[in-house]
Amino acid sequence: MKISRRKALQLATFIGTIWLTTNRTIFAKDIKTDIKRKKAIVIGAGIAGVTAAKQLLENNFDVTVIEARERPGGRILTSSIGNISVDMGAAWIHGDSHLNPLMELVEKYKLVTAPTNWDETWFYSERERGTVIEDRDFNSIERITNKIILKIHELQINATADQSMESTIEDLLQGIRAPSIIKNGVKWWLSSEIEAVSGANYKDLSLQYWDEDEAYEGDDLLLMQGYGTLIKKMTEGINIDYNKKVDKIEYGKTEVIISGEWGRMSGDIAVVTVPLGVLKNKSIDFVPTLPEEKIKSIERLEMGILNKIVIQFDKRFWPAKAHRLGLISESTNERIEFFPARPSSDNTVLVALTYGDFARSIERRSKEAISHLIWSQIKKIFPRVSKSNIVDIFVTKWYSDEFTYGSYSYIPPNASLDDCEILSNPVGNNLLFAGEATSRYYLGTVHGAYLSGLRAASQALLIKH
Ligand SMILES: Cc1cc2nc3c(=O)[nH]c(=O)nc-3n(C[C@H](O)[C@H](O)[C@H](O)COP(=O)(O)OP(=O)(O)OC[C@H]3O[C@@H](n4cnc5c(N)ncnc54)[C@H](O)[C@@H]3O)c2cc1C
Repeated sequence: MKISRRKALQLATFIGTIWLTTNRTIFAKDIKTDIKRKKAIVIGAGIAGVTAAKQLLENNFDVTVIEARERPGGRILTSSIGNISVDMGAAWIHGDSHLNPLMELVEKYKLVTAPTNWDETWFYSERERGTVIEDRDFNSIERITNKIILKIHELQINATADQSMESTIEDLLQGIRAPSIIKNGVKWWLSSEIEAVSGANYKDLSLQYWDEDEAYEGDDLLLMQGYGTLIKKMTEGINIDYNKKVDKIEYGKTEVIISGEWGRMSGDIAVVTVPLGVLKNKSIDFVPTLPEEKIKSIERLEMGILNKIVIQFDKRFWPAKAHRLGLISESTNERIEFFPARPSSDNTVLVALTYGDFARSIERRSKEAISHLIWSQIKKIFPRVSKSNIVDIFVTKWYSDEFTYGSYSYIPPNASLDDCEILSNPVGNNLLFAGEATSRYYLGTVHGAYLSGLRAASQALLIKH
């Protein structure tokens, strides 16, 4: 997911980070001494769960992480394709500012990164049979897109809670007075900025709350060995029980009991980090039921879908300089963004992003049908490429994945960022929540999930038993 928002919210971000860091230090120093070794059960070994576990361990808790899959990382998943590491889930560290807490981890674990140069987006015209859109037109597309984004921010002020983005975007697009190639380019770019970032279509997005969360300044970085290396480093020394799906959580007495087909386990506290999709699907039975306010927030928030199609070709045919490729056409139904997995090299892997309803529909198609879909778009950009140049394709299915039911959360009409905060509130004396959907300021991101893990650990330290 790309977040190119560059809002002047540095101060708020800075204060937020300092708050967490400071509290972390105070807790470690002042509270550690007054606690006996309490037992914490963390449900989910994604970045939020692993972070909470690490933080609790450092504060003298006896910690077990219970994970339904056979691996850690959750929506962080790195595969090896054509001799390189490719991220099938999260790929970018959004904003390499020193305020981004993930940058501390990059340094600590000496992870190798490479920035994505969004200026090296290459647009190709379908009408002109795959010719590159000239700089002059490209600049017009960028300028008009930015103007529309500013206008959306203006219109948000008077937007109502139930309003989606659909009609506003339609009106703004209709108001463009420019040749069709530029209009279609703006449609592509705007959809990338709004729909791809949210994993949802305009009709499903709240106008009022779109882009109201925060973002870090700086470049978006890819991890050369994949995000999985970060998880691998972070899980060192943490006790994780794999292949244990949690079906029931009993809480609110002196202890918390979690159970599944594998058996049961009790602890003093539990940190629930399963994705919003899992909560929405009611895959876990909470006893007693969660507070009405939390249930309503779970119902209101939604999971967006971003699916990747990773294509291994037998040769590289795109420009070595390109970081992103897009086909500008009349049709807007099946928009795909193509990213060379290793720009500035002869590597032959392209990562295709699909999002929203289209991404959901991908999951119902056969590999052969998806291969055909990819080729039919690629040949409009590079007419000499034949279907036989495709060596293999790999397709993600995050929507039908029973341990996430979607890629990341977004705010639909009638929901708000307050719902993320409600989701983050502890329940009773021993039930805590973390995960990207509980991150009011950075929902839908790895850094949001990471910070939520730190926050949940801080909340656990405050609980008096
Ligand atoms: C395709 C895709 C691309 C993305 N791109 C980016 C990006 O470039 N940059 C970015 O910042 N973010 C990106 N994201 C979002 C990012 O991956 C998530 O926000 C983040 O990884 C969420 O971490 P988490 O710990 O909250 O949840 P998860 O990683 O989902 O962890 C939750 C864990 O709970 C486990 N679990 C679920 N149910 C149960 C159960 N019943 N019992 C036990 N365990 C259970 C799951 O298996 C999982 O391991 C992307 C996501 C996807 C899917």
